[in-house]
Amino acid sequence: MKKIKINEKCNQCGVCIVKCPAYFTEDSAGNVKVVSSSVNETAELLSAVRSCPEKAIELGAEVNVKTTIQEYISKLESLKSGITVTRNDIAFNEAYTRNVYVPSAGVSGYSYRSSSQAERAGYDAFVSRCYSQVDNLILERITDYRVTEIKPYYTTDSTSVYSKNNQKIADVLKAVSVLVSSGKLSSDFCSFDIYPDTNDIVWKMLNRGEIIGDNFIGIVKREFSYSASEYKTYIDWDDMEDYRGKSIYNYNASDASRELGNDLGNALRYAKSDIEDGALSYIKGLVDSYNRNLKTCLEKKIAEIKKLV
Ligand code: SF4
Repeated sequence: MKKIKINEKCNQCGVCIVKCPAYFTEDSAGNVKVVSSSVNETAELLSAVRSCPEKAIELGAEVNVKTTIQEYISKLESLKSGITVTRNDIAFNEAYTRNVYVPSAGVSGYSYRSSSQAERAGYDAFVSRCYSQVDNLILERITDYRVTEIKPYYTTDSTSVYSKNNQKIADVLKAVSVLVSSGKLSSDFCSFDIYPDTNDIVWKMLNRGEIIGDNFIGIVKREFSYSASEYKTYIDWDDMEDYRGKSIYNYNASDASRELGNDLGNALRYAKSDIEDGALSYIKGLVDSYNRNLKTCLEKKIAEIKKLV
């Protein structure tokens, strides 16, 4: 067995993967890599080395297989603790706390007979089109947060934190398998598909869009205590003369809707740590469940390897 590495001359052409798929593969970013740092000089490997247009594949000194496997065992032991999640990992950041866009309550045509009539109509429009939407506007931000920052913790697809960690472990298992004669390891030795308990109620509720959604509106509302009437002061009116020389009035409630958006943005900003703490309390249980399952499975894999050395 010899050490192998791909040097910086590699142009990512992928010829080596075609020639020797047992030893060459792509990482998640699409870069060519070796599956193990030690390989046998098979005919396919030598063909890949010869075919590499950049002469980027370097074969080094003979390696001690037993020692290399021990190194992989140590690496797997260090991965047994699993993954962690902190508030920083699920930050409710600027993208969610910047001022909220509130649809304008609009500007009327000149259709009111007095300034007080126009102001009342402006206030009614503000309440029905803007203020009554406060819960929906908060929910929109919380939902964006859930499907962007929290989703990797409640899915099993390739974007999940679990899949990414599983891949890291599977890469080491694959490297071990290269060092051991075929048939000595179980057929599923290289696969590592571990997830939290998907029957967990929190897992199910997050997948249904519950918990971090409606329940979190209250957290933001605690920071947003303005009544609709407090925005009356931002509703303007204007007048002009009609064709008979009589005054007619309109309203402009766009300042009121803009101010509401600013206040909602501030409320979201003030609620940031409570939102993160709430989300973390749900996710931690899932991560703990994943780590328990990971430890059990990894201990079995390590025991299987230890039998061979
Ligand atoms: S054949 Fe050579 S240049 Fe092409 S991807 Fe493989 S190592 Fe890189």
